[in-house]
Amino acid sequence: MKIFDTLQRRKVDFVPIEPGKVGIYVCGPTVYNLIHIGNARPMIVFDTFRRYLEYKGYEVNYVSNFTDVDDKIIKAANEEGVPSIDISRKYIKECKKDMSDLNVRPATHHPQATLEIDGMIRMIQKLIDSGHAYVADDGTVYFAVATDKGYGKLSHKDLNEMMSGLRDLKVSGEEQKKDPNDFVLWKPKKEGEPYWESPWCEGRPGWHIECSVMSQKYIGDTIDIHCGGEDLIFPHHENEIAQSECATGKPFCNYWMHNGFLKINNEKMSKSLGNFFTVRDITSQYDPMVLRLFILSAQYRTPLNFSKELMDQTKASYERILNCTDRLKDLIAANASGGLTEAVKEEQEKVKAFIAEFEAAMDDDNNTANAETAVFEIVRLANSTVNENSSKEYAEYLLGVIRTLCDGVLGVISERREESLDAEIEELIAKRQEARKARDFKTADAIRDQLTAMGIILEDTKEGVKWKKA
Ligand code: AMP
Ligand code: ZN
Repeated sequence: MKIFDTLQRRKVDFVPIEPGKVGIYVCGPTVYNLIHIGNARPMIVFDTFRRYLEYKGYEVNYVSNFTDVDDKIIKAANEEGVPSIDISRKYIKECKKDMSDLNVRPATHHPQATLEIDGMIRMIQKLIDSGHAYVADDGTVYFAVATDKGYGKLSHKDLNEMMSGLRDLKVSGEEQKKDPNDFVLWKPKKEGEPYWESPWCEGRPGWHIECSVMSQKYIGDTIDIHCGGEDLIFPHHENEIAQSECATGKPFCNYWMHNGFLKINNEKMSKSLGNFFTVRDITSQYDPMVLRLFILSAQYRTPLNFSKELMDQTKASYERILNCTDRLKDLIAANASGGLTEAVKEEQEKVKAFIAEFEAAMDDDNNTANAETAVFEIVRLANSTVNENSSKEYAEYLLGVIRTLCDGVLGVISERREESLDAEIEELIAKRQEARKARDFKTADAIRDQLTAMGIILEDTKEGVKWKKA
């Protein structure tokens, strides 16, 4: 299996530290708001990668943190006049709901920064004791970048070049730093901020130290694979390497995987630009599986542009999968006899070739785009070869393959669920309301007929349109 390693800048063979086991650390969200669909990209692509490793027989220790102390959380808490823990607790819960809707499996461990402060203090002290960090007059602790020979190796930055862009520390209010590249490990509290006791001052940790400490605690000094969005390469991941390698004297991580951005109108989707959709915005309009299928339709390192047109196309593709499993289940229920005839065995060989294509795609740096194509080929083959004369055994075989690859590895639920039907009904009702508002009664009536055919009865009430199953 090959992985594109950001540090080596090439595809390399994946060899785990311990045969049969893989430790993965994925930087998780800062919890001060509902997550947007850009944040969902690393969650979905690395969850799929984990599922594939498990499909191949690896035991995976998957660790993904929640950053629950941060300037943005404190700002949101102050705006709402509540303690920052209320904000982080609320949005961790909301994030877990989105993950569950998107069929992202819970991590083996979901550590939270505020519960790991002791470990951070220990690592910072170790870095001070070994001369890699220093304490400024006000109690701020900085990591001394010049003490780390390897600094810059992940982001391929040259320290001298960085120095030449020397900022005026006085102007930026950082005159306590010995070097502009130095970064904060611990900072003193300000009025209205949460804080912890430490040997240096009452304060809170910098952002980078949490991932060094939590990956070490839940995986080990050296981890197999570290994942996150490409915006984290510098400074976050560069600084994690510096802290961890200087603290342990061992390599921090063997493989680095970074996902490209989800974009909108070819611009990065981000909270600060305001050009985002939350997962909740999208899952109120589409089955969450359509979003999952869409995100996986591109290889994880390539940029992916979001649009409603592409989502609608993906919705139609998803419908093809659902229709296929509907038919296969009907055949199985009908208990059609016939067994696995020679003709069926020939078809099975074609399916096996698509399974091999699926595995080759996933082995090639988690290429979910090509893996999805292989699943659609199997669906196409099933739709063209299965008919009322097909045997139950053949239908069971195909359904088993789809469940293993689509549900199991891609995490895309291949069977029609009540909720997806509900979303479809809600959408039709909304369209009917729109048509009525526009006085397009022909369309409105046609939609009502369509709903009636689906066994849905509409009722116009004072609170709006209600529906029930006939
Ligand atoms: P944040 O909450 O901003 O720290 O982001 C959590 C994760 O989402 C990180 O791994 C980011 O790199 C990733 N991320 C944020 N925005 C995007 C985007 N537009 N596309 C892909 N990944 C993103
Ligand atoms: Zn991190």
